[in-house]
Amino acid sequence: MKDYSAEALKNIVQNARNAFNTGRTKDLKFRKKQLKALARLYRENTNAMIEALSIDLHKSKQESILTEVFFMINDVEDLIANLDKWAKPEKPPTGLANMLDKACIYKDPYGVVLVMGAWNYPLQLTLLPTAAAIAAGNCVIIKPSEISTASAKLMEDLIPKYLDNECYQVVNGGVEVTTELLKHQFDYIFFTGSTTVGKIVHAAANKYLTPTTLELGGKSPVYLDETADILTATKRILWGKCLNGGQTCIAPDYLMCTKEIQSKVVEAVKEILPKWYGDNIKESPDYCRIVNDRNFQRLRKLYDAEKVAYGGDSDPSDKYIAPTILTNVSPNDAVMQEEIFGPILPIIPVQNAQEAIDFINSRPKPLSLYVFTTNNKIKNLFLENTSSGSVCINDTVMQFGVDTMPFGGVGLSGMGAYHGKYSFDTFTHHKSTLIKNLGALGETLSSARYPPYSDNKLLFLTNMLKKRRSFIPFKYIPYLVVFGLGVASVFIGQYIKNSTSSNK
Ligand code: NAD
Repeated sequence: MKDYSAEALKNIVQNARNAFNTGRTKDLKFRKKQLKALARLYRENTNAMIEALSIDLHKSKQESILTEVFFMINDVEDLIANLDKWAKPEKPPTGLANMLDKACIYKDPYGVVLVMGAWNYPLQLTLLPTAAAIAAGNCVIIKPSEISTASAKLMEDLIPKYLDNECYQVVNGGVEVTTELLKHQFDYIFFTGSTTVGKIVHAAANKYLTPTTLELGGKSPVYLDETADILTATKRILWGKCLNGGQTCIAPDYLMCTKEIQSKVVEAVKEILPKWYGDNIKESPDYCRIVNDRNFQRLRKLYDAEKVAYGGDSDPSDKYIAPTILTNVSPNDAVMQEEIFGPILPIIPVQNAQEAIDFINSRPKPLSLYVFTTNNKIKNLFLENTSSGSVCINDTVMQFGVDTMPFGGVGLSGMGAYHGKYSFDTFTHHKSTLIKNLGALGETLSSARYPPYSDNKLLFLTNMLKKRRSFIPFKYIPYLVVFGLGVASVFIGQYIKNSTSSNK
């Protein structure tokens, strides 16, 4: 057991700050070396990761590889491949007032970053932001969730074997350790977890006005209408619900549809689930368990037999809860008062899309919204009249894998976003730098700003500063002028030649 006393934590953070101050993480070669070592860590320890995920969540090999190990390898390789491009200073265009100057956006690391992970995808949610923070040139304190014990221990053991020991350090502990850690000053905090703890983290960050990304949760609704193929839609909703035992932040939380569709969904569930998991789901190697007793007990209190249309059975000794469908659920039922985060799907009957939209808008903004329809008007009705972190039409969860789109919440489901280049930008301070011309012409152009002020100076300045929409980028104007002068000189030469010959 490592020492995470208050004194030890102080040293850990100070060591990371000292390491950052040496400037070594700013070197792109150093960053790439660390990212390559991280890729090696993933490859050389794939089996150990699968085993840890199986201990923590009874995660299957397929889910472990697809949603954790392979996802992380893909991500780190993308970071390595794009690092030079993303880290390069940008040269934005400038207006007339700065025609003699240079504008440049430098990509600075923030400094010492705290990454706090959640237990449901314990490796990915901790190491994806860590990799991006490394790529952006930061030092990182990595705090895995203590609830996924085996995965947390694995990270604590492996990270020091592969990464620079001062720049990147793991702190493994529960609420007490995290509370102590949060007393320190960080330059960025990246938190994944519940909205309740997100508020605690945000309050701690506020002490130093530390910029923060909060990847939180909430209830992600689904709407299904009669234009969608019910069997396919049910498969996709069930897959999102059963993946990781429903313990996915963007899992479809509840379904809204008409009573007729509700009956068809229940029939489809009866057809699909035995095909996926066999007659005894508990025996299936592909079905996860609830992470701990506390969550098991919480989930069991969310439903009673009367509304169960499918499933409902559970085993506390194994933390097993069957995929469970509840029908005719009312907004006042217990299951609708909190994020479910388990394999229970309540169906709330609604008359139409507008009723579903009104319901969504009467609650906190969801992390994700799912709509199954082939009717474009209905699709647009949801897109234009609701706000959520992300939307996926005709599927669930799949938007998470498209890393050219930012992933994050809005309102109580979170702030900030990451994935792909958005991850690199999240951990990067974009430092705007204007390099002014100090010559006589530059000073003449600038001098109208000095007192004594006058109307003429004001007119000159407002003209210089005015934003102009130009179809030709400003930097090409000198070439156009030279080209124009060239063409004019040809015409003038021709004119002189003609007039001389006609005078003869
Ligand atoms: P959690 O909020 O309980 O824990 C997250 C982290 O906070 C852990 O590292 C934990 O040690 C720490 N923590 C817990 N209590 C604390 C306290 N009082 N003070 C300081 N730190 C504390 O979340 P969880 O149970 O690990 O994860 C479940 C939640 O996370 C769900 O709401 C889910 O939707 C959300 N989630 C969101 C995303 C996302 O990407 N948006 C991903 C996964 C999970």
